[in-house]
Amino acid sequence: MGNKVLVIGSSNTDMVVRTAEFPKPGETVLGGTFMMNAGGKGANQAVAAARLGADVRFVAKIGRDIFGEEAKKGFLKEGLDIQYLLETADYASGVALITVNANGENEIVVASGANMDLRPADLPDEIFNDVAFVLIQLEIPLETVAYIIDKCLRSNIKVILNPAPAVALSKQLLEGIFLITPNETETGILTGIYPDNESSMHQAANFFHRAGIEHVIITLGSAGVYLSNQQFTEIIPSKKVKALDSTAAGDVFNGAILTALSSGKDWPDACHFACNAAAISVTRAGAQNSAPYSSELD
Ligand code: ADP
Repeated sequence: MGNKVLVIGSSNTDMVVRTAEFPKPGETVLGGTFMMNAGGKGANQAVAAARLGADVRFVAKIGRDIFGEEAKKGFLKEGLDIQYLLETADYASGVALITVNANGENEIVVASGANMDLRPADLPDEIFNDVAFVLIQLEIPLETVAYIIDKCLRSNIKVILNPAPAVALSKQLLEGIFLITPNETETGILTGIYPDNESSMHQAANFFHRAGIEHVIITLGSAGVYLSNQQFTEIIPSKKVKALDSTAAGDVFNGAILTALSSGKDWPDACHFACNAAAISVTRAGAQNSAPYSSELD
């Protein structure tokens, strides 16, 4: 497609162990199968966008260790432009330790490591060259998020913020954002309004509009998304699918909306495209690897 986009964010290695029951404090239990998956919201979204045809520059900070090495190999395999990927010997690469019990519930501890050492001074101006859209999340330091938004505002680059995991954001930070894409929980935390019907979705979207954000997409799980801007205020339904694993559905949605908007799709078309991509991902196990390729959406 040739539409260059920039994703700046986290890269983690997810280490997943199945167990009949979670261990209690001080207890050791013998678990079941072990899996190691590439993850991190930044990396997941970058890979999803690339698989759907965007020309993705990905900037993250990894440690100089075996996990960082493996992550890098994965990025190259997915065709990401990682010439500005940062490496540090001071911190370990990000990892997420995940246990899943017999009911499918999970317990997750994230050791952010190098992700939380991604500083504004690490980001040379060149990374912003030739890009019209930048996609970020909140798994890197907030000062870096604020720096990117400010830089993009001054360079006429559109910022998409996926505010996950949700933390309080200043008015100054919010007003530089082109599009915000919270899920229902994040919307509740950021606006104080839980979007469980059209009226509360409208009110929550208006909270963001009043803060200066022109475009709002609230993701609604299997119900699709609520799109709100000057032209549209409507629910765009997702495809009905047999859900197997909804991990990273939001990440696939964000990578896909980035691809769609940067290739010139209008808002409803972009939302349909991203919902369809995310719907495919929930029919497959895993996170980053569940992202579909553009050929699967035709
Ligand atoms: P997150 O993964 O961040 O919690 P959501 O659960 O809102 O985000 O999912 C993101 C998007 O993925 C939804 O807007 C929808 O398009 C799609 N999606 C999620 N779950 C399903 C599902 N069960 N069936 C179809 N589409 C889904």
